[in-house]
Amino acid sequence: TERKSLSQHPQKTDHVLHYLSPDGEKAWPKKYPFCGGVFQSPIDFHKDILQYDSNLLPLEFIGYNVPSTDQFTLINNGHSVKMYLSPTMSIRNLPFEYTASQLHLHWGNRNKSEGSEHTVSGKHFAAELHIVHYNSEKYPDITAAMDKADGLAVLAVLFEIGPFNPSYEKIFRHFRNVKYKDQKVLVPGFDIQELLPDRLDEYYRYEGSLTTPPCYPSVLWTVFRHPVKISQEQLLALETAMYCTESDDPEPLEMVDNFRNVQEFHERLVFISFHWFLSSSVKVSCVNASVQRKCKMIPVNIKYWNGSPAALQKHSNLLSLQFTQLPFLLVFCWCIGSCKRVRYSQSR
Ligand SMILES: [Zn+2]
Repeated sequence: TERKSLSQHPQKTDHVLHYLSPDGEKAWPKKYPFCGGVFQSPIDFHKDILQYDSNLLPLEFIGYNVPSTDQFTLINNGHSVKMYLSPTMSIRNLPFEYTASQLHLHWGNRNKSEGSEHTVSGKHFAAELHIVHYNSEKYPDITAAMDKADGLAVLAVLFEIGPFNPSYEKIFRHFRNVKYKDQKVLVPGFDIQELLPDRLDEYYRYEGSLTTPPCYPSVLWTVFRHPVKISQEQLLALETAMYCTESDDPEPLEMVDNFRNVQEFHERLVFISFHWFLSSSVKVSCVNASVQRKCKMIPVNIKYWNGSPAALQKHSNLLSLQFTQLPFLLVFCWCIGSCKRVRYSQSR
């Protein structure tokens, strides 16, 4: 599909985001027309729009291991917490070489930890990291690149709850110094690749937009399939540490729910570097072993571990389940008798 040219340049005015105002993000297009336009992000990744592409190679990260003698600036910009990255950092294995500019986070709130922007089969993750790069082969800096169709490449990492994550703590432990808008702090350099999931070869790739005004449709997205884990305490720190307002504001506004809702995704495809269904469907039928004949009902008390099944078909005495991750554990009971426990882990 041909992209519309990005000839319109909305004025660069204040970047106050009103996720929380009565109209919220619905009001963005009035001031920023691209927000109501094409190729918008984030989106939901679901079976119907995904297409496997064997040409999708793992990205290569150049200069990501930044020595501790270098320093990053971490800033509260009033709608997120952002860390400026070193121009010596870049990524390869995309159509162009892209140089790192900054990273920032999106999250929910302490009562509802569903703060990711991208979703998978309708499911939100706890939070999301974006590492923003610009096309340094064609453009001199990010300002020149951000409104061009091939201007930006963003890496996205989804978060889920797990053990304490020492790598993310290298950023999170500075939150108390950027509690209020416009506050800054210096963070010693470290290996930014530690913030990425272990599996870098499995990802979603599509053409979309900035998820904040002015929403330019200029982003080549790489969303890693496997989330990283941070602890409950670390997530809570992210959800409660910061304010959108300056330190002397008489009405402090908590920085929460700074994610955009998923956008329409008509007649477009997301390319994936992995096979969505790793296992063929698992059929669970109900057989009464003592009399060696099929029961008239489906098995009961079905429980799974490692994700819920992506597809579920019920017949009178047969259940089809499809899983998107291996291995998984399935526990179910016959209509009469004891429960059966099956672990599926066949290799790809
Ligand atoms: Zn973002």
